[in-house]
Amino acid sequence: MKWSWRIGRVAGIDLYLHATFLILVGYVAWSAYQPRRLAADAFGGVLFIALFFGVVVLHELGHCLTARRFGIATHDITLLPIGGLARLERMPEKPGQELLVALAGPAVNVVIGIALYVLLRVPDPAHLLDGVRLVGGSLLVNLFYANALMAVFNLVPAFPMDGGRVLRALLALRLDYARATATAATIGQAMAWGFGSISLFTHNWWLLIIAVFVFLGAEAEADFVQTRSKLSAVKVEDVMVREFRALQAQDRLAVAAQHILAGFQQDFPVVDGDKVVGVLTRRQLLTGLARQGPTGAVGDYMERDFRTAFHWETTDAAFQRLEDCPCRSLPVLREGRLAGMLTTDNVGEYVMIQAALRGERIRRPLL
Ligand SMILES: [Zn+2]
Repeated sequence: MKWSWRIGRVAGIDLYLHATFLILVGYVAWSAYQPRRLAADAFGGVLFIALFFGVVVLHELGHCLTARRFGIATHDITLLPIGGLARLERMPEKPGQELLVALAGPAVNVVIGIALYVLLRVPDPAHLLDGVRLVGGSLLVNLFYANALMAVFNLVPAFPMDGGRVLRALLALRLDYARATATAATIGQAMAWGFGSISLFTHNWWLLIIAVFVFLGAEAEADFVQTRSKLSAVKVEDVMVREFRALQAQDRLAVAAQHILAGFQQDFPVVDGDKVVGVLTRRQLLTGLARQGPTGAVGDYMERDFRTAFHWETTDAAFQRLEDCPCRSLPVLREGRLAGMLTTDNVGEYVMIQAALRGERIRRPLL
């Protein structure tokens, strides 16, 4: 994610802090400082946020480490003002596994809640809390309530909250995955309308923001899964671009520049006879033109370490590779020879055409 700094590594997972998080820290410090104008109050506010986001990290680790047990790695965890964002390599599609991964986060909050409760109930709590009573209120009591709120909020059965995934997983035990997702999304959107209505009557604008967030999250998840399930039923050779230009390593960059102007293609496979030896992306072409002008050779600027797709694969599998790499297209091979190109745009167009043929609502697929 842009505007994020790496602040550490936990259990082999990189931890990032998003720049907007500092706004939250500043806001909390300022709000805590205002009433009594004491630096200690501001410090207490910041300490509280630090402890609370320690809880958020543990919650996210609950998801990640459970997913790891099912062989799913985590790219990274980013701390945003609205909470933590763990980027799992993929979501488990087996309902039982998704259920455990989704529940593991709130389960961590339950454990922390019990630990804090026990800590706050020891025989002489006043004495115990002396050390942490930096400010007016008790840090641990506030943390206890914030942690409980987080558990409850996350179990609301609506995407993108954990509760939405729990609901989908439970439905998927009986229904197919796409149908279960659509049903869970509908329930989530109904809840969003409910939150929205309550917020208008109570003037609770925070609830309105949550309602919008839930509504869009549900829609995004439903579109994503629907698209994926359609792509799993079609082979790469039925979706790939068949009319395209290929270059040779000894071609000049001017040739590629002419192709870009004359057509829609942005990335070019570079071939030696039947064999694909590289891919020249638009960015590499521009770099080459800036450095050497139109006479530079394609072979000097093309990407030699590139990924490919196979004509017999299902499109969702190849598309996953396209998403994971920084490229925009994959050369498609048939028996080792270049047969086509798989691009994000073309896959999106395929999905839209299929939707139109079925008379479904047409919108840009979320890929
Ligand atoms: Zn969670």
